[in-house]
Amino acid sequence: MEPAASTKIRRVPGNETDPARRAASQAPTLNPVAARTSALTKIYGDGDAQVVALDHVDVSFDQARFTAVMGPSGSGKSTLMHCVAGLDSPTSGQVFIGGTEIGGLSDAKLTELRRDRIGFIFQSFNLIPTLTALENIELPMAIAGRKPDPDWLNHVIDIVGLRERLSHKPSQLSGGQAQRVACARALVARPDIIFADEPTGNLDSTSSGEILSFLASSVADLGQTIVMVTHDPSAASYANRALFLADGHIVDDLADPTRERVLERVGQLDHAHNAAGSTQASDGQSA
Ligand code: ADP
Ligand code: MG
Repeated sequence: MEPAASTKIRRVPGNETDPARRAASQAPTLNPVAARTSALTKIYGDGDAQVVALDHVDVSFDQARFTAVMGPSGSGKSTLMHCVAGLDSPTSGQVFIGGTEIGGLSDAKLTELRRDRIGFIFQSFNLIPTLTALENIELPMAIAGRKPDPDWLNHVIDIVGLRERLSHKPSQLSGGQAQRVACARALVARPDIIFADEPTGNLDSTSSGEILSFLASSVADLGQTIVMVTHDPSAASYANRALFLADGHIVDDLADPTRERVLERVGQLDHAHNAAGSTQASDGQSA
């Protein structure tokens, strides 16, 4: 019932020359599902003001994969992310984090799940200005009453390259450094899945490249699962998969996206969108 896309990007057993990779590719548990939706629907407003932001969306996100979610403004990208992350509740349909159907959870259990199993990276970094970089990184786990594993904390600090900046406040950091703090904060709790909404939207191209390489390596090397909303084809090319939304529907699903293939697909969707818009305008009907 799930789309074949998740299997498209799996390695074909027996095609690997490296023995460790071959073993990994044959392991049946390589990519279990980190999160999925079933007929996820979100409608805002009612009557004439009603907006169907998501229309019966079925999608699944495999573990240890980096998925880019693309689509024109207003296509439902943020709504999808917010519903899957338990920040917004669906009008109908279901969301599963691992095996947990989050619609069945009490508010307290949902808050706990979000805190313990989900990480967030926002366009605007969302760091606490009065705390140092290190304090910001440790904050979510401190709130949860957990202590990060010191070896893992050190490893994360080194891979994001923040060793020299730990005592700095956010105002003393560049945008790229601030976003690295936010990435470290998300990674240190080892969440089941990290959601990033336009994480490079406020960064110059050099800092964007650093953050995206870092996110891609946390997937490839650390097995992190990441779902990233972006409208930037270059950013999407860092992912293992690019999903395309239009008018609340998933309209395409590319494995191993390159910037060129993403650009081509975006062009086709814009063309279809404009054609639909002009038909509507000329005959006064909406489908
Ligand atoms: P995207 O992130 O792809 O730009 P969104 O998920 O933010 O799209 O929005 C999808 C649709 O839902 C848009 O038509 C938007 O105007 C509408 N929408 C989003 N949030 C709200 C809200 N809180 N109230 C009413 N409409 C909303
Ligand atoms: Mg958005």
